[in-house]
Amino acid sequence: MSNHTHQSLHTMGQQQDRRSWAEPYRIKMVEPLHMTTREEREQALAEAGFNTFLLRSRDVYIDLLTDSGTNAMSDRQWAGIMLGDEAYAGSENFYRLEETVRECYGWKYLVPTHQGRGAENLLSQSLITPGSHVPGNMYFTTTRFHQEHAGATFHDVIIDEAHDSHSLHPFKGNVDIDKLAALIDEVGADRIPYVCVAATVNMAGGQPISMANLRAVRELTSRHGIPIYLDATRAMENALFIQEREEGYAGEPITDILREFCSYSDGATMSGKKDPLVNIGGWLSTNDRDLYEEARNLVVVYEGLHTYGGMAGRDMEAMAIGIREALDDDYMKSRVGQVRYLGMLLEQWGIPFVKPVGGHAIFLDARDFYPHLDQDQYPAQTLAAELYLESGIRSMERGIVSAGRDAVTGENHRPKLELTRLTIPRRVYTQAHMDVVAESVKACFDHRDSVRGLKMVYEPRYLRFFQARFEPLTA
Ligand SMILES: *Cc1c(COP(=O)(O)O)cnc(C)c1O
Repeated sequence: MSNHTHQSLHTMGQQQDRRSWAEPYRIKMVEPLHMTTREEREQALAEAGFNTFLLRSRDVYIDLLTDSGTNAMSDRQWAGIMLGDEAYAGSENFYRLEETVRECYGWKYLVPTHQGRGAENLLSQSLITPGSHVPGNMYFTTTRFHQEHAGATFHDVIIDEAHDSHSLHPFKGNVDIDKLAALIDEVGADRIPYVCVAATVNMAGGQPISMANLRAVRELTSRHGIPIYLDATRAMENALFIQEREEGYAGEPITDILREFCSYSDGATMSGKKDPLVNIGGWLSTNDRDLYEEARNLVVVYEGLHTYGGMAGRDMEAMAIGIREALDDDYMKSRVGQVRYLGMLLEQWGIPFVKPVGGHAIFLDARDFYPHLDQDQYPAQTLAAELYLESGIRSMERGIVSAGRDAVTGENHRPKLELTRLTIPRRVYTQAHMDVVAESVKACFDHRDSVRGLKMVYEPRYLRFFQARFEPLTA
């Protein structure tokens, strides 16, 4: 082999590595974006009470508020929309979705809901009685709300590393087995209706949990007869991390990893708006016949009949197709690859964010970004506002505002993590968009010293982060 051939092969190899996360699809339809001036953004942000949830989408250039329901559907999914069977009862699309969930995740029974929180409501109301205790690997806003609303006390049993934005632990979503065992001893197994395990852990920065850890949770809880319910919203992204980081799983398809993972649980709540690549929908799935009967009955009160649960037939069809598309290894690599690309750019400039990079978002560390601000000056909310002013990029707060107040004492929860989340919608933005995002964050970082923080001027009673209003602090 000549030197020349050798070299070009070598370069080709590098090229393949460098492009290893490139998208395994191309663009067939586009949606124009609206650019705004700084003056327009100042006005829009003031009208929105400095809360990015209250901005109008037309005033946003790159929308990284959330990866929830913001997915781009494929040509197959849009074709599936035409197969919607909109019968009130017994829609074909329901049976297709039921079969898909059974095959891909493995649980027996399916109750469809309008989105994830609908499923959380059904699960909480069915299993929780006043005085119950529900352990979880960090809280999620709507999940904890429904648990507390049904009368439970929530207990965070995630490992300590999860609360440290600098820890490089590969599975920061893991349950701390000692904390869980101590809780079981303290309150008694009969007062714990289930353990709630999220994969990945959104509030910790999209951090995965390992197969070994879930297996260990299973061993402990089955000795006490306590079921495990997953928050399986991003369990497929979790499966990719297991493939990449956990011994014994390299080269195993994420389909198989997902099935094994779910086999250590009794069921799950699901937000179809994340992994399953659709814009709306959700479900509760379980192996427990009694829970199924109860939830299938309750669903008619809150969501709709048990064969649509608030979704149109066409939406169930699109979700069934989306679940299978999301289980493609190349797709999942490109999904997480794009998030890591953004992280790599920010890393170059020394911008503080949660590491390792998780599955669905970059979480900027607002405490380190604005060390001169107190947590009561809402550093993460402030950074979201600044980033919008800078370039029309919309992000969201995941810190003291999202954490809300203690259900009993009324005191503010003061989470260690004070984060601004740049959430990447699936199959929506390009690498050039990620460059713009990184440059805009850098511009905010460069003038961080001049930033003064916010005060809250309106606080809603439930899940306040969605609708709270703020004003800038001066001096
Ligand atoms: C989005 C989300 C939910 C709630 O789902 P919705 O579809 O928004 O109601 C629950 N858990 C996690 C981890 C989520 O990210």
